[in-house]
Amino acid sequence: MTTTSADIQLVPDFGRLWVDTLFETFLDRTGALGELDRRAGDGDFGTNVSSALRRARQSIDVAPPSDYSGWLTAISRGFLGTGGTSGPLFGMFFRDIARCAATGEPTLGEFSSGLTAGLATVQRYGKAQVGHKTMVDALAPAAGTLESAVAAGAAPGTALEKTARAAVGGARGTIELIAKRGRASYVGDVARGVLDPGAAAAAMLLQAAALAQAGPGGRVDTSWIDG
Ligand code: ADP
Ligand code: MG
Repeated sequence: MTTTSADIQLVPDFGRLWVDTLFETFLDRTGALGELDRRAGDGDFGTNVSSALRRARQSIDVAPPSDYSGWLTAISRGFLGTGGTSGPLFGMFFRDIARCAATGEPTLGEFSSGLTAGLATVQRYGKAQVGHKTMVDALAPAAGTLESAVAAGAAPGTALEKTARAAVGGARGTIELIAKRGRASYVGDVARGVLDPGAAAAAMLLQAAALAQAGPGGRVDTSWIDG
């Protein structure tokens, strides 16, 4: 039997590393994300994300997860217990991501399937298409890029790097858009020129995944969310 890159398991402890990187990446950026939502929504996005992560942190401290699925389930539950539109959507997204691995850390193929499933769930509940200025604008190109990278046999590190870049590109593309979903759609043209905070957060979480796969020592560059 030949082994393709889809069958390669992500690095040992990928789940814990990803979650640690997520906390680190979002910690000092929730203010900036909240500011984006203030400009084109109601301003609660930063608080929603930080309370979701705080809730996840607490449950992890009380009962440290033992495997990939446990780490990602903690993040999922943190978001599911949070308000706003983004809370339940990211909660369900991470539930699909948490379920993607058969045992231990996911293979690259399983991770790709998890990302595609998470995107489908977000779209099923939120009804947003690409171009509606939501998190879908980051998640959809990311899921598509990862599927293509897996099909092309790319190594996991390269594939996740490409995925993160596609997500950041998609998120940045929301700057020019007028929102068709969410609160930003109530303000029409006012939202043009403002990066969608949910798309930015979705891109940041995929940047964190790429960094977790790349190994310790790096930092996620989130300077792009400042414009
Ligand atoms: P609310 O709009 O209820 O205050 P949040 O501030 O928590 O929700 O989240 C806003 C983000 O949620 C937006 O930036 C956008 O990315 C995302 N979002 C809003 N509506 C939808 C939707 N229908 N589908 C997907 N994502 C959405
Ligand atoms: Mg809001």
